[in-house]
Amino acid sequence: MSTITTRCPHCLGMNRLPVDRIAESPNCGRCKSPLLDGAPIEGTSDNFSTLLNSEQPIVVDFWATWCNPCVGFAPVFQQVAEERQGDVRFIKIDTEAQQQLAAQFQIRSIPTIMVFKGGQRIDTINGHCRKLSLIYGSIRRS
Ligand SMILES: [Zn+2]
Repeated sequence: MSTITTRCPHCLGMNRLPVDRIAESPNCGRCKSPLLDGAPIEGTSDNFSTLLNSEQPIVVDFWATWCNPCVGFAPVFQQVAEERQGDVRFIKIDTEAQQQLAAQFQIRSIPTIMVFKGGQRIDTINGHCRKLSLIYGSIRRS
């Protein structure tokens, strides 16, 4: 039976799940919180390297509260996160609160979306929602 390994968004514990249990809203084996509740995870300098170390593709939204395009894009991000909660992990990083991460990934404009797989960055998209919808198309097809 094929399985996925996923980090709990609450306690960051590793969980190995049979793929056919994903639809059953499984809970974390460690803290019993919902593993796949569809909400993007808040990325911080404390948890981000741990979150990146995953078999699942990771989509990261670098944003800030003062950025209107970012705020406008948030519902789109949320919707795709809910659609793909079983196989893709979604992380939001507030570049104001997490300036160390913003510097590490050389974020010069927001929103910036980065896609990681196996800890490696495989794609970066800067700019507007229209362009961002393109990357969601490519994630949907992946
Ligand atoms: Zn947990």
